[in-house]
Amino acid sequence: MAEPSALPKDKSAPQKAMDKMGLRRDVDLALHLPLRYEDETRLAPMGSLLHGQTAQCEGVVVEARVELRPRRQFMARLRDDSGELVLRFLHFFPSHQKTLALGARLRVRGEVRGGFFGHEMVHPVFKAVGDDAPLAVSLTPVYPTSAALPQAYLRKAVASGLQRAPLQELIPPQLVKPGLPSLRDALQELHHPPPHASLAALEDRSSPAWQRLKWEELLAQQLSQLMARRARARRRAPVLQAQPSGLPERLLAALPFELTAAQRRVVEEVAQDLARAEPMHRLLQGDVGSGKTVVAALAAAVAIDAGWQCALMAPTEILAEQHFRKLVGWLQPLLKARGQTVAWLTGSIKGKARKAMLEATADGCAALVVGTQAVIQGTVQFARLGLALIDEQHRFGVAQRLALRKKLEGSSAAVAEPHPGPGAVTDATLEPHLLMMTATPIPRTLAMSYYADLSVSTIDELPPGRTPIVTKVFADNRRDAVIEHIREEVGRARQVYWVCPLIEESEALDLQNATETHAQLSQALPGLMVGLLHGRMPPAEKAAVMSLFSAGQMPLLVATTVIEVGVDVPNASLMVIEHAERFGLAQLHQLRGRVGRGTVASVCVLLYTPPLSDTGKARLRAMAETQDGFEISRRDLEIRGPGEFMGARQSGDTLLRFADLQEDAPLLQHARAVAPRLLDEHDGAAQAHVQRWLANRVEFLKA
Ligand code: ADP
Ligand code: MG
Repeated sequence: MAEPSALPKDKSAPQKAMDKMGLRRDVDLALHLPLRYEDETRLAPMGSLLHGQTAQCEGVVVEARVELRPRRQFMARLRDDSGELVLRFLHFFPSHQKTLALGARLRVRGEVRGGFFGHEMVHPVFKAVGDDAPLAVSLTPVYPTSAALPQAYLRKAVASGLQRAPLQELIPPQLVKPGLPSLRDALQELHHPPPHASLAALEDRSSPAWQRLKWEELLAQQLSQLMARRARARRRAPVLQAQPSGLPERLLAALPFELTAAQRRVVEEVAQDLARAEPMHRLLQGDVGSGKTVVAALAAAVAIDAGWQCALMAPTEILAEQHFRKLVGWLQPLLKARGQTVAWLTGSIKGKARKAMLEATADGCAALVVGTQAVIQGTVQFARLGLALIDEQHRFGVAQRLALRKKLEGSSAAVAEPHPGPGAVTDATLEPHLLMMTATPIPRTLAMSYYADLSVSTIDELPPGRTPIVTKVFADNRRDAVIEHIREEVGRARQVYWVCPLIEESEALDLQNATETHAQLSQALPGLMVGLLHGRMPPAEKAAVMSLFSAGQMPLLVATTVIEVGVDVPNASLMVIEHAERFGLAQLHQLRGRVGRGTVASVCVLLYTPPLSDTGKARLRAMAETQDGFEISRRDLEIRGPGEFMGARQSGDTLLRFADLQEDAPLLQHARAVAPRLLDEHDGAAQAHVQRWLANRVEFLKA
């Protein structure tokens, strides 16, 4: 594989732009494919032009002048054997007048308009040509580019990259999907399609050449996932096994409820992974309220029982704090006898308290450390970290997830076993097991492709006794009726959330919105304690508000989306979501999941501000129609596409450039089946293929 050629220190602006787009090696350029094509292979007779058509014509200038009405412009009239064509330039320079001079022969290209005096083109592309100037022999590619990178420059760079790139077939022919052209032929065709090529097939990406490219891309992705998985299988983790009548059993006995069958099943799946010397890498998915926390607590109990520490990370302080309370309640009584504690670590814990927590973590006295990402920051040292639990993992951005993974994989958090028993791994450092939780279920196709490196456990059942949430959709002018309904609920000693939307462009507006609503509701409901919770409050204040609400002392809480994930107050029975039309479906589902957590019948009111678009209506209707998180995420995926679904958009990178997981499912199936054979029998080819396609993107795909 050719290395990127050493570039001169002072790169030109277009070169920098290419760099930024990841177009560094010849092969990167060769794999940068056109968005569409322009046909410069033929000339259209002027007499046969049609309104709306994009065409290339050639003729001689028979008239050229500056017109002053209706506004100043330059016009030239062109003639060929069949007719005439008027060119108009609303902005022009002396160079225009020079090239478009009377008698000049021109080749022009643009969109044809049926003007009052015959056909015309406004601001066409034009150039002076001699008699019999040759036409393009293939369709002209138009590449995705950026403002700093002119199309013509990029076109040249790609053409020469394509010539130089080593594009020999890497995959043995028997493993290539049958019926597809070679990579070189496919690229040649896509960059420079012959004049007779079907523009339709090229542009909807269904031609065999496109299929080959998509298959290659999917194969690279499957291979990199499989490599990651196999590499992990070679690494070592502590064997975590609970003792008979140990901590997990005692925790189970102390719980105020019985596990559901689904919970028992996933607890067992996790326990089996923990008992192996290979690092667990498991995603626990279960709809909002399905009871994932207790599964995590039981896994923690196994790790602690085996003499190891455990870390639990949540994306927000509110959620971390709530976990902390719950886990302290469950585990602290059991840990006390062992002289251990549950520690609490977030960014807002400073000074002495922080020092104490860090010490407890470093000397192993803290059996479980709960917090935000602060838990894995550089200064935090664990004595014996055996298990990391990550809640609402999809809420961590791609970059955060990567940092986390790096930190855990053979990191300073991992430790060597201090007292190796007989047969124990002695040389290598041990890596902690990893359990990730999410309430945003991953559709099957996505799980299959992005998470080939992950085992998945699913809780597909809610604890018994839950009453379904009734969802109502109201226009904002029904606000008074909604406030009346709040009064009734509070009269029955129930609690209410009122959620205001996040206004992305402006945190200030966001706040104003929530503050105003808070004032309005306080006024409409005199004598009622109405709380306000938003992201910019100091953590201590947030915690104070949250604890008043959790304890049932505050009946109504106005909040921004900070309460979106995981908050658990079973007595809350009504949720009002203002400007529901501004939220994503998955987010509405998460929010709605804050009610209906106890046995009381709950209602979710989606308030919208008319007018609503048709899709807007369909989306809110979908929320009212289904409570199934899987169905909602399927619909969400349809609307948003997988890149955005995975949170890749934040990072400005996309996971797949060419293939589409839904549309190209047959290609994905094939790539998935071939990947293990390729790795087993042709390892060199597999490595080279991943290098060719992904180079430095491999890490990103693992997140
Ligand atoms: P999520 O999966 O959304 O994180 P939680 O773990 O917060 O859900 O659980 C939701 C609520 O259900 C909590 O109050 C929890 O204590 C309770 N819960 C969990 N499992 C059961 C069960 N098997 N029976 C009854 N309640 C349960
Ligand atoms: Mg949860």
